[in-house]
Amino acid sequence: MSIIGVKGTHDIYNSEACEFSYVENVMKRIAEIFAFTEVRPPVLEHSELFVRSVGESSDVVRKEMYTFLDKGDRSLTLRPEFTAGIARLIVQNKITNLQELPIKMYYCGPVFRYERPQLGRYRQFNQFGVECIGHTNPLADVDTISLAYTILQSLCLDNVTIKINTLGDEESRNNYREALKEYFSKHIDKMCPDCKQRLELNPLRILDCKVPEDQVIVKDAPKMSDYLTPAAKDKFAYVLSCLEAMAIPYEVDDTLVRGLDYYSDTVFEFHYKSSKGNDYGAIGAGGHYDKLIKEVGGPDVPGVGFSFGVERIVSVLKDDELIPQDIYNALDFYVMPMGAKYQNTGIAVANVIRMVGYSVDMCLDDVKLGSMFKRAEKKNAKFAIIIGENEVDNNRVILKNLKTQEQLEVKLENLRQTVDELFEEHECCCGDDCDCDCDCDDDCDCENEGHHCHCHCHDKKEN
Ligand code: AMP
Repeated sequence: MSIIGVKGTHDIYNSEACEFSYVENVMKRIAEIFAFTEVRPPVLEHSELFVRSVGESSDVVRKEMYTFLDKGDRSLTLRPEFTAGIARLIVQNKITNLQELPIKMYYCGPVFRYERPQLGRYRQFNQFGVECIGHTNPLADVDTISLAYTILQSLCLDNVTIKINTLGDEESRNNYREALKEYFSKHIDKMCPDCKQRLELNPLRILDCKVPEDQVIVKDAPKMSDYLTPAAKDKFAYVLSCLEAMAIPYEVDDTLVRGLDYYSDTVFEFHYKSSKGNDYGAIGAGGHYDKLIKEVGGPDVPGVGFSFGVERIVSVLKDDELIPQDIYNALDFYVMPMGAKYQNTGIAVANVIRMVGYSVDMCLDDVKLGSMFKRAEKKNAKFAIIIGENEVDNNRVILKNLKTQEQLEVKLENLRQTVDELFEEHECCCGDDCDCDCDCDDDCDCENEGHHCHCHCHDKKEN
């Protein structure tokens, strides 16, 4: 019997792997422009970390964690999110003492949640996100939202809706919790078993309930905005006014509470409905947290962050045909030795060109020329290099442009130079000819404003 992949996981390969890399590279590049540096926390953490930080009342901790005992009887959990692990990493490595605040980090990698698989919902999925820790100025919230918005714009996801709300400070939330407790106590008999538990643990979580009958009750629940302290109200108004000043569109949604317990003050979600009408849920979300760093043993400093679901972003980009065509791996050269005895010359030629930085594959089977051309076409190769008896005797190869069908004979000693000349005329990633003189970090003169050139020859030159 063949073994199949675990339910809720998915395999990413070929063109889809190019799409994931494209999205993640755009995200990383913009995060670095916003002065975030990469962090790679482990996948495994002690379960207690998530129980204490994400919160006992959250769905993630109550029912979605992949938790197990290791051979040393320790309770470990495959990370269901990154923020708690990063908080732990910062405290354990005393980064708050060593580095000037704020600490700004971005991450990318798989997370694991035992959820019911459905459209846009997996049990292993990838998140890209950032954390900015140690800034008390609410502008850090604005800057973080601005980074997320810039990333989405760079991916051409213009029709994104940013939903935003505030959970206020501790006093606001305590007052609100009391009000919710009082309200839901009157209706709890008619509500689902989960909500009965939530009423005890954290009545705010009831607002997330997806059961339709419960949602009717939730609709008339007290609103957070009526329980905010003046300070929390002012902070939120300031955040909103800064977003307006930066022309970042938003919708205030006072039902937005987020599913993880560590959030306070500003919380937000990014929604995007693809033109195909597919609703994958939020493509990203985040918020401000006041007590998380202290909760895991660090100083009393706040933080703010967000996380994008990479699978969901790739899905909406594909639905709306927003993936640039030049991201897919195209082969520069396909070497075709016309018979087994020319294969050793073939592999040497392949390596000469690889060393200059071009991608080269070679036919290792002793098959007819026609079938090698078919293979070159399948591999999307730009040029074929044909090597037969005549060529070996004369120290030459035939170089064939597979698009124009033009071919020329090249002396082996001139191969590097000829190959470079072939690629001298290059295209910018926008498809326009680029005037940047192969200096990739220069702005490109094409119409796409503010966009950098990723021309091929830059990489080649560096190699
Ligand atoms: P969260 O950590 O719950 O705030 O989630 C952040 C983002 O991760 C969401 O906005 C989604 O885009 C994505 N996400 C959350 N859960 C899943 C899942 N089960 N499958 C795929 N993506 C998910």
